[in-house]
Amino acid sequence: GHVRVYDQAMHNEARQVLTLETEMRRALTTEKNAREMGFTVYYQPIVRISDGLLTGFEALARWIHKESGFIGPDVFIAMAEETGTIHDLGRFILHQSLRDLAGWIDLGCCQDAPEERDIFVSVNISGKQAMRTLFPGEVSGALSTSGLKPTNLKLEVTESVLMEDMTTVGVILSGIKALGIDLCLDDFGTGYSSLAHLHRFPMDVIKIDRAFVSRLSSNGSVDMRAKSMVDAILAMGKSLGLSVVAEGIENIKQARILSKMGCHFAQGYYYAKPLPATDVLAHLQQHGRDWSPKAMG
Ligand code: C2E
Ligand code: CA
Ligand code: CA
Ligand code: CA
Repeated sequence: GHVRVYDQAMHNEARQVLTLETEMRRALTTEKNAREMGFTVYYQPIVRISDGLLTGFEALARWIHKESGFIGPDVFIAMAEETGTIHDLGRFILHQSLRDLAGWIDLGCCQDAPEERDIFVSVNISGKQAMRTLFPGEVSGALSTSGLKPTNLKLEVTESVLMEDMTTVGVILSGIKALGIDLCLDDFGTGYSSLAHLHRFPMDVIKIDRAFVSRLSSNGSVDMRAKSMVDAILAMGKSLGLSVVAEGIENIKQARILSKMGCHFAQGYYYAKPLPATDVLAHLQQHGRDWSPKAMG
């Protein structure tokens, strides 16, 4: 009996995955369909650590399924990569996030700090996208449609993306750079050869992984080994002329330590969780680009 029950469970799960895959494929034929099927983009602010001033947002894909509820990006992105729908999904996310950002800029919510660089949206791309010869052209098209500048967009890649096929990915990423779009190396320090990748690919930004940030202050004490590593990453970023963003900041203590260490940019629950576009708009209308935690009370 045991074995049969287990088999049945496996079978049901496989069927559910298949159903989701089919739904995803159907949903992503048009942007309207995708929205109706519950695909959307959430935005998490990336701020200047010294004062919480907004510099841009990371775009994070969401699937809020009408029956299954919330499906995490870790699940459906992997699914989309396996089935090849990642290109349609990536296109949807790119267009949606550029459109949302253009709307916020049009409303004049993002203009109160002229000394700052343009506000941007930072979009994650998967390995399959970074292997696609048509990708730079699609990105360029999406930018023109939105009316935004190349400096309003950044693309984030992880090391696993870079390891797909270094030559091809190198060509595609150079194509992106040639459009004037900045590249960000995500989850820095967690991969096998972060330094080699940094040397080989034309990066502008690195994101220190949350694993290092959380170890900076656990149980009230500072982890000196984690601190040394973050120190080294910051020094390297500085000498290579890269911007460094610390990810996953959850409390004021981590923010203070990183700020004191010379890290300029931050992202994490301490400032804001990823938010739907309507919540971002409400915040911008109320507080402008001030995203320091005190402004949120
Ligand atoms: P990621 O690119 O490293 O994104 C950061 C993740 O950390 C997000 O999870 C975010 O919600 C979470 N996070 C942010 N601040 C904090 C914090 O202070 N504490 C903690 N514990 N977590 C924090 P999310 O949204 O579930 O995304 C998971 C991963 O899915 C992303 O990791 C990214 O690799 C992938 N992903 C999300 N959206 C996309 C997309 O549009 N395209 C692609 N290719 N991948 C995506
Ligand atoms: Ca990311
Ligand atoms: Ca990350
Ligand atoms: Ca990650």
